[in-house]
Amino acid sequence: MRISDVSIDGELSEFGGRALVVRTDRGELKTPQRALTSSEIQYKAKLPSEPPIDNQLSEVVSFFTQDQWDRFIQRNGSFASRLRTLEFFGDKMGYTLRRLLPKLPRTAVIDKDAVKYLLELQRMSPLDFITMPSLPPEESAFGKLASAFSEEVLSERREPLIYLDMGLEASLFKSRFDELMDLARTGLVHTVGLLYRPVKDTSVNYLHLWRNRGTEVLLQMSDVPRDFEGTSTMHLLQKWGIDAFSVRLNAYRGGGGSDRSGPTAGFAPSRVKRLDQGPLIFKPFDHWTMRGGELGCDCPVCRDLTAPGFIERYVGENESYDGETFIAATRLHEYFKSSDEFETGRAFIKEGGLAEYFQRKEGLRESEYPVPRPSATLNGWLR
Ligand SMILES: [Zn+2]
Repeated sequence: MRISDVSIDGELSEFGGRALVVRTDRGELKTPQRALTSSEIQYKAKLPSEPPIDNQLSEVVSFFTQDQWDRFIQRNGSFASRLRTLEFFGDKMGYTLRRLLPKLPRTAVIDKDAVKYLLELQRMSPLDFITMPSLPPEESAFGKLASAFSEEVLSERREPLIYLDMGLEASLFKSRFDELMDLARTGLVHTVGLLYRPVKDTSVNYLHLWRNRGTEVLLQMSDVPRDFEGTSTMHLLQKWGIDAFSVRLNAYRGGGGSDRSGPTAGFAPSRVKRLDQGPLIFKPFDHWTMRGGELGCDCPVCRDLTAPGFIERYVGENESYDGETFIAATRLHEYFKSSDEFETGRAFIKEGGLAEYFQRKEGLRESEYPVPRPSATLNGWLR
């Protein structure tokens, strides 16, 4: 896949937020939007009827512990098994534009050799974007490496996606981001990957994004936690001018050697967090049961179901841990409604009205992002 053009659709307001049209040789994307992760697509297979998902962007997350990373770099065999996983998800997500997020431990050494090795892995896989992970702060040849990487990827008719960690020190983040914008002006870069870090800790870097919101480069942020103080983190982040988001996966859920024992002890549907799309607030499932059982949702997971009906339908048997099906259904509901909201918000952004959209959504309006507010009621809910 190649991106031929990225352009801003409509207005840019001081409040922030932007709508892009991204033209590729595989069709057109409109942002902001939510990418579907490999974990979310697996939820679909856990449900009694597999609801169709019409996402355009997808992300295969490949987890590495330090041991797994050492094995990957030093021993034969690990490469092939990672490749099989990429092929599996690449095929499943063939209708989308696919990228890889290697989730690496902070201690992993990402040097020129590691970048080359990951490039070879992705080159063999059915991916549309080819990822270069965020390079460590001490790497002084960032611009040179990024430029060589992009040229090589573009020569294979794929799209380079160079990641920057939002946690980089402010002057380094700025200089690397600006180097990528220079590459964008020469046509080598059309999109940049961003690794989420909390705004309050890295606020200057977010401000730099906001200042550059007139730049016609697709900004894709990965590893965004689901909720911030009870509302949806990625919906809040729109105002900095980021265009696409994928959600962080829970550590206990599969994906390469993580603990699969799951939250078996004390699973109760009533306590599972569910996104209330009206105000964009997470509430325990109990909220709907207590209010007469109307779910008020027409997404493919909830359609025609009441709260008791939802429990009956999605509390499954033969699960690898209690609540597996119920959580899968709840997360997919969240994916569908969050995607719808990005589309609704887009209409506001185009008219310069993202601030008004934020006003209409209780969760966004009341969040003093990035200042945390007390939320004792949220403690103890299943994540
Ligand atoms: Zn729903």
